[in-house]
This record gives sequence, structure tokens and C-alpha cells, in this order.
Amino acid sequence: MLKNLQAVRGMNDILPGDSALWQYLESTVAHLLAGYGYQQIRLPIVEPTELFKRSIGEVTDIVEKEMYTFADRNGDSLTLRPEGTAGCVRAMLEHGLLGGGVSHKVWYTGPMFRHERPQKGRYRQFHQIGVEAFNLTGPDIDAELIVLSWRLWQRLGLAEAVTLELNSLGTSEDRARYREELVAYLRARFDQLDEDSQRRLETNPLRVLDSKNPDTQALLVDAPKLADYLSDDARTHFEGLRALLDAAGVPYVINPRLVRGLDYYGLTVFEWVTDRLGAQGTVCAGGRYDGLVQQLGGKPAPAVGFAMGMERLLLLIETLDKVPAELARQVDVYLVTLGEGTQQAALRLAEQLRDALPDLRLVVHCGGGSFKSQFKKADKSGALYALILGEAEAAAGQVGLKPLREDGEQLNLAWSEVPQHLANLL
Ligand code: ATP
Ligand code: MG
Repeated sequence: MLKNLQAVRGMNDILPGDSALWQYLESTVAHLLAGYGYQQIRLPIVEPTELFKRSIGEVTDIVEKEMYTFADRNGDSLTLRPEGTAGCVRAMLEHGLLGGGVSHKVWYTGPMFRHERPQKGRYRQFHQIGVEAFNLTGPDIDAELIVLSWRLWQRLGLAEAVTLELNSLGTSEDRARYREELVAYLRARFDQLDEDSQRRLETNPLRVLDSKNPDTQALLVDAPKLADYLSDDARTHFEGLRALLDAAGVPYVINPRLVRGLDYYGLTVFEWVTDRLGAQGTVCAGGRYDGLVQQLGGKPAPAVGFAMGMERLLLLIETLDKVPAELARQVDVYLVTLGEGTQQAALRLAEQLRDALPDLRLVVHCGGGSFKSQFKKADKSGALYALILGEAEAAAGQVGLKPLREDGEQLNLAWSEVPQHLANLL
């Protein structure tokens, strides 16, 4: 017997009572991005494992220990996408959209999968909205991405709770020079490093900067700083970005230790962080990844993008009490019926109303029952008005209209009068 079947740990159901808030976030973002000329791209959830190894990096937490990887029935190794950028670049390349230097601005949304320890703000299936811009090299596009996210926080009422952290990772040559110095510094302190960092010192030393181990972090305080190794080009790009953000009035702090958990970033990196959610404080993160397209087999094409974590944004919206009041009510009118032939009449009336008022949220009572029990359901639905159709009303082409949330007489109206009345009331 099947007993206690449950969702996979760290993978959440989004129940009917919560979905309106998700839709609100999605539609706010979609609307905002349309206003900046970004188009949606819809991508598969499963990709060849190789794609993530080659893009995110073999010695990152994600690839080393967080991916849901499996062999399909042909024996091909597939992976549930842990993030969206790699698949997005794969698709742009595969369909030849990056050739000729043509610029593209796209966004996507959907579930991502990482085998992490589930906790508040950290799940194994979570949702991102990602935004990417291709074939644009200057800091102007980096600034646009940041400015549009800033506008999003304002629209969502989150602006006072988030801070922008900014850093430059330099060019790949800058990082190569810096890497040598960092390795020399860390090698001299090898015994004090945590195990992961010891290993990464050989494979991918910049990843040590991203260590969550407090002892390692303490050791890094006096380590060489990447900022001191930036070339003129990298510096110019970073200063250009800062000047644009200053001009746009977007506040930021420079965080010289900010590196990202994925290997493909260079030059600009940024995170929007909040102190209202405890340890899982990054709600949005991104940066420039000019080398990735080539790394995945394309001709070089510069790119920059970011991804926001929807669960964390929703937690923040709730924590700050910014859930729009209108989401609380999902029904405008509840139609109750009683008596012979009234169900057919109700169906006709309801469809007439939907013709006249396409935005009307009208629930037609199903399942019969007494007036009393139907009114209970009408009340529970949150509807502001009940329409009441008994045998007498149906025969006379009339219907009763009664307010449910305030005192008020029942009005008897001809069916043809109802749309105008409701339009005035709602
Ligand atoms: P963190 O440092 O919190 O692990 P990350 O650097 O791994 O984040 P990214 O890969 O840059 O995160 O993903 C972008 C955003 O997606 C994060 O800033 C966060 O808001 C969200 N996110 C990442 N992992 C998770 C997760 N396991 N559960 C919920 N949201 C997540
Ligand atoms: Mg992570």
C-alpha cells in the first residue's frame, strides 16, 4: 500500500492560496522587462550534463555536489538545470542568434534544482527569473540591468530593504596575474585552510575567496586584493559603470571580496542583498560573462546578466508586509441558485455577464444545497456581491443583487441591467 507519499525534501508545492502572490511577482517582472525591450525565452529544464560542467565550472559547489544528474534510457548523462544562464547561452548559440554582433536582450523564468541543505530561503527546487543581454560590451548595459532591477525593487516596495554590492573581477589576464599572488599567499598558510579550500588551491584558487568557512574568511582579510590587479581596461569599465549608476541615482557599496559561485564571470559582478531574511540574504545576483559563449563553442560574444531568487523575493515581500491588498480577494461575485430550471438559467446569465465584463471574477455555485449553505460559501469565497437566482427571478428574467460585505438591500434587476450595475460597483 502507498503510505505517506510526500514531495521530495526541499521541493515545495505552491498551493492555491499562495499562487496569486507568485503571479503578481511574475507579472510585475514581465511587465517591467517588456518596458525595457526584453523578450522572454523559454528553455528546457533538462540539459546535457556536459553543458553545466563546461560553463559553471567543474570545481564549483554546484557542479561538484549540488546537481541532479542521471542517465536517461539511452545512457546519456542529463542534469536538471541548476541555473538558467548556461541553457540560455546554449539556445542562443544553437539557433545562431549570436552571430554578426547582433544584440539580444532576453529573460526567462522557471524552476532550478540544486541538492543543497534545505532551510528558509534555500530549497532544492527553487525558482529564478533571469535576465541576459548579449553582444553588448560597454558598462551601459551593465548599468541598465542594475537600473531595471532597482526599478523592480521600487515597484515591489522592497527598495528600502535591499543594498547593491558591486565588484570587478577584472579580465581573465588580470585574474591570472592575481591568481599567482593569491596562491603564493594561501600556500604559505596551507595548514590553516579548510579542506575544500586546500583542494581548490590546486584546481581553482579564486574559489577559495567564496569559502563560507569563517577561519578561511579570516585568513583572507590580509590576502592580496583582486582590486589591486585590475588592468586599465577593467578599471575603465568599472569606473564607467559607477559613473552611470551615480547618474541614475542608484546607491551601491563596493565589496572587494565579492566573487560569484560560478566560474564564468569577469569584470562586473553584483549582488542585491537584504538583512531581513537571515543567512539567505542575496535576492539577486549576476555579472558579466564575456568568455562563456566562446567556452561553449561559439565565436566570442560578450554577455551580461543576473538571476533573482523568487522564493527569497516573496519572503521579503511578506516580511516587509508588501503583499498588495487586492490579492486577498480573488472573487468579485458569487451566483447562487435555487429551484427548478435555475441552473440552466444561471449558466446563461453567467456567460452573458462574462461576455459583457471579461475581467469579472464570477463564481457560479456548483453542487446544489440550500440558500443558507450557498450563502455560507459565497461569504467564504470573499466575493463582494451575491447574485441570487430563484425560480421566480429566472421566470421573470430578473436576478437579485446583494452586497455581502456591508449592509444593503437586495436589488432586483433585469439581466440586461446587471453588467452596468456591477461595472459601477466594482
Ligand atoms: P547563495 O550564495 O545564496 O547560495 P548563489 O550564489 O548560489 O546563492 P546564484 O547561483 O547566483 O546563487 O543564483 C541567483 C539567485 O538565486 C540567488 O541570489 C538566490 O536568490 C537564488 N538561489 C540560489 N540558490 C537557491 C536555493 N537553493 N534556494 C532558493 N533560492 C536560491
Ligand atoms: Mg549557492
